[in-house]
Amino acid sequence: MAGANARLSREAELMTTARTECASARQRGLPAEEAATASGRWLVEWLAPAKPDEGPRETLPDARVTKLGEALAPHSAARNVSWFFLVDESPEVDSFSVPAGTVLVTRGLLQLTPSDAQLAGALAHEMAHVTLRHQLENLAQLEELACQVRRYGELTSADAASRGEKPSMPDSLSTAMADGSLMKNNASTLTMAFGKKRQASAAQELDADAAAARTLHAAGFDVADFIALLPKFAATTTPLLDVSKRVEALQAVRASLPPLKPSAPAKPAAPVKKPKR
Ligand SMILES: [Zn+2]
Repeated sequence: MAGANARLSREAELMTTARTECASARQRGLPAEEAATASGRWLVEWLAPAKPDEGPRETLPDARVTKLGEALAPHSAARNVSWFFLVDESPEVDSFSVPAGTVLVTRGLLQLTPSDAQLAGALAHEMAHVTLRHQLENLAQLEELACQVRRYGELTSADAASRGEKPSMPDSLSTAMADGSLMKNNASTLTMAFGKKRQASAAQELDADAAAARTLHAAGFDVADFIALLPKFAATTTPLLDVSKRVEALQAVRASLPPLKPSAPAKPAAPVKKPKR
């Protein structure tokens, strides 16, 4: 059917136009105000009761977490981030961060990390998502996706009108949505936007781990403690990424780091023999 083929190739052409026009939305990135707005919105969503009959989540600053976070902060690659550390009194094991620099860990996670060295690993990982602008990257991708869908609809409608036809749902739109070609690489973006848990992509997780390892090491913590924490996350970790892959990647980063400085706060002070007088 030559007519159907011509129509599909015209639609593909319009889709390419929509993609090209919308690419600039992502390249521009998001202005600081949007980062602040998104941060506020996500924190409000986090605090909302999980079930209608429950009260809001209890989330407060915590001395141990703040002290550790502040020890890590100067060693992160952050630019102009006002770090703020909070503990959510939930027993589930979870952590979360927003672009403005608020890092949230649950009581469940604190119970899983009795040693500061392991807790520092969890904090450094969340801080790395902020520093690497992962949430903003995903938001910009989502904007790009929304732009693509909107522009494509406009272009195909105008095209139909120019032929004197009634605008209709293009055949290729449902196909493109079904096979994912319209939303290439956007699966994690959608999860992040619409899921209760805003998951990062597998690549972002690995990047955050590597950045966290460098921060931990610079702050005097042995990355091995962070690596030891990861299997404990196995049940809660993102299904996009196997824990063994994270462990393997982190071991490679750790092997590339210079030896820890002896002043490392992560290690208990070595017992010193009292000099005999
Ligand atoms: Zn993460």
